[in-house]
Amino acid sequence: MKQPQTIHFRDYQQSDFTITSCLLEFIIDNGSTRVDNVMTIVRQNLNAKEIHLDGEMMDLELLWLNDVLLNEEMYRREEDGIVIPLDADTAQIRVITRIYPDENTALEGLYRSGGIWCTQNEPEGFRRITYFIDRPDVMCTFTTKIIANKAMCPIVLGNGNLVGTATLENGKHLAIWDDPIPKPSYLFALVAGDLGSIHDVFITMSGKKVDLAIYCDRGNEEKCHHAMRSLKKSMAWDEETYGREYDLDVYNIVAVDSFNMGAMENKGLNIFNSHYVLADETSATDGDFMGIESVIAHEYFHNWTGNRITCRNWFELTLKEGLTVFRDQCFSADMNSRLNQRIDDVKSLRERQFVEDAGPTAHPIKPQQFIEINNFYTATVYEKGAEVIRMLHTLLGEDKFRRAMDMYFDHFDGKAVGTEEFLWAMQTQSPIDLTQFKRWYSQERTPTLKISSHYDEVGQRLTLKIVQSIPKDTHGREQLPYAFPFGIGLVDGYGSDMILKSPNAMLLHEGVLWIENGVSELIFEEITMAPRLSLNRNFSAPVKIECAQIDYPFLMAHDTDGFNRYEASHVYAIETLESMMRGEAINPLFIEAFGVILNDASLEMMFKAQLLTLPSINTMMQRQEILDVEAVHTSLEVLKKHLAHTYKEILIREISAIYEPKNSAIDALSMGRRALSNRCLGLLMSLESDPISMMCLNRYRESVNMSSRLAALDLLEIYAPHLAVEALNDFYHQHRDQTLLMNKYFSLLASSYRGGVLERVKELQADEVYDNKVPNLVRALIGSFARNPVAFYDESGKGFAFVADKVIEIDGFNPQIASGLVGAFKNYGRLTIDQKTKMGIELERIKNHPNLSNNVREIVEKILAV
Ligand SMILES: [Zn+2]
Repeated sequence: MKQPQTIHFRDYQQSDFTITSCLLEFIIDNGSTRVDNVMTIVRQNLNAKEIHLDGEMMDLELLWLNDVLLNEEMYRREEDGIVIPLDADTAQIRVITRIYPDENTALEGLYRSGGIWCTQNEPEGFRRITYFIDRPDVMCTFTTKIIANKAMCPIVLGNGNLVGTATLENGKHLAIWDDPIPKPSYLFALVAGDLGSIHDVFITMSGKKVDLAIYCDRGNEEKCHHAMRSLKKSMAWDEETYGREYDLDVYNIVAVDSFNMGAMENKGLNIFNSHYVLADETSATDGDFMGIESVIAHEYFHNWTGNRITCRNWFELTLKEGLTVFRDQCFSADMNSRLNQRIDDVKSLRERQFVEDAGPTAHPIKPQQFIEINNFYTATVYEKGAEVIRMLHTLLGEDKFRRAMDMYFDHFDGKAVGTEEFLWAMQTQSPIDLTQFKRWYSQERTPTLKISSHYDEVGQRLTLKIVQSIPKDTHGREQLPYAFPFGIGLVDGYGSDMILKSPNAMLLHEGVLWIENGVSELIFEEITMAPRLSLNRNFSAPVKIECAQIDYPFLMAHDTDGFNRYEASHVYAIETLESMMRGEAINPLFIEAFGVILNDASLEMMFKAQLLTLPSINTMMQRQEILDVEAVHTSLEVLKKHLAHTYKEILIREISAIYEPKNSAIDALSMGRRALSNRCLGLLMSLESDPISMMCLNRYRESVNMSSRLAALDLLEIYAPHLAVEALNDFYHQHRDQTLLMNKYFSLLASSYRGGVLERVKELQADEVYDNKVPNLVRALIGSFARNPVAFYDESGKGFAFVADKVIEIDGFNPQIASGLVGAFKNYGRLTIDQKTKMGIELERIKNHPNLSNNVREIVEKILAV
């Protein structure tokens, strides 16, 4: 292991040398792979007299500098690479290394998964393949020759275009791939193996033909069609929306089972976790179909935002990720429903990013330092990063935002840049100086807006006071007020928005203000009646709102802003639950408002399902100073039961009206019907009545659609375990050969709120399908358990001990997955003394484990420091 070393953004310097071209030859075989690398080096800093090449976890066999074979005295080995004396403006370095993909369990660099050789090089995997200046601001052209046994690896793929093939002696063959577009090493990819595939073509807007292919395990080809359709839609969308055309002759996607991340945008050769490629009606849920469409798009969009314009260093990760998440969110909104997409994006932001931002690992979207960059592929960099781009989009409006993006592409294509360059392009079109706005990049934690209003009936004026409450950062330092767009509606008694006329508010466009003061007192005139406040419409800024003057039932029924109708129902439910936890009776007005929504036949069904969804345990936990999971869980169940009891007949009627067991189409209406029907069933099941449980079991048996079957199975597991046994056995035996469905099976059991989960999870580890070397299975079983608040925070402390055991065990072979898991302990500072003592023992045990990776150490030390 490398010694832990903190790397600071302020220390960034351009590389002394760069590489302009790289010719690679891979000889792939069982056991080991030989890599022959010829690099053209150019000096950038005239004072530099030696070159450092990054490299780890491989054997160096031979090394030449300009045709001179170097012996051990002519260069220096260091912990993380080699240093060669070099005092010349250009040079050629050739290095031959041997690597061992079969033994590579960290899944970084070149590794073998299920018989397939594949790569994962972002952020720093390429240094496990060959010696290189492995940093994103060194961009070069790559030519890759791959030699492998033809029977074992009939398919050999690289970046760029295929320029040559040949059959060799001894059953071998070769392929040469040439990528003419300079790129950093983290975008290098290689795949070799025996794979099935489907093919298609896309004609770009200038009439160029692009060959498209998706590769997968043989037998799964039919499950790739949804991914292919999604790819073609993405290519068309990026042309229509941003005028961006694809640049190579081929676009290949490969699905593999063992992958640390979701997917990787390697130039012309995306490598995907099979979870984000394979789907058909019998194996995928509606959520899976949507997820595939979005991830395929995300990786495709990186071709412009990430690949052609890349990051100067890893502190700038949000430059490509925040922007590309924003782009994929807009794409999904255009393909499906803008409103439901927005609600889902915000839900995800709050459940993941807000939690991270409130905890010990909080960091700005552009971090200033890190020990292990792998730990910064976070919800903050990605999702809060996307919200920051969205605020710019709101500020500029569609047309100017597009013009600013054109400026960005025109000026920086082919370069490695930072968020400053991006913001420069935005500034060229912005009506407002962005200096203060930039704080979103450098500050951390979620601000709260404390809002109050006063209505002057005589003067027909409304005064709105907005106070920004800015938390201190993780080091206890004060932070400054933000600038942001703020969507607002003043709603009259009939549900219509009043026109905003203000002598002192800065109005960007109708319904959107620009706020930049720590305290703002805004006056609105010609307000003819006391208005209802609809605040932060469409979630215009990633902030929390505190306001005692919101009429939730009214907004739930009447707000013209769909997002805020959802928001009103969400916050009203939270407040109702909190009053119950204080010992008060259930608020009858909430029950009534819920009934109004349930009876509203005009609502689009997916949206109605959103309005009828109660807050999760995690949402409620975020609001507690000291966690009390039991209290949250109990009050949620009581509220569910009360709603189900009150509206039992209506819920049963609603379900029978929309239930379609034989429909598995994935259009908006069919998905909406399923979501609403599953939501209603979820409420009814809390009654634990036999006829309803039988209805649920029948849905599991009858439905052809995986969303409905899984929803039924999940509810049976929690509320009718006596009936669940048979259904779970049936599911297991039907699908045991399909890893993706077994992930769902393990995840469902580990997420259950029923007692005894820990014992069942421990037993499931011995199941022949389970394999702790496969990240998806670990995430499904162990990850789901660690995210199950009822089981993880069990008062015995056994949940903590189990997850700590797994962190230590998995860290021994895959530090990246282990450091993801250790995040489960992030609420350490918010536990009762008893729970904190128990968790503290486990955290110390992890921290003191010999040979702990830097990945896990960085997170554990931050958690223990609170
Ligand atoms: Zn990405």
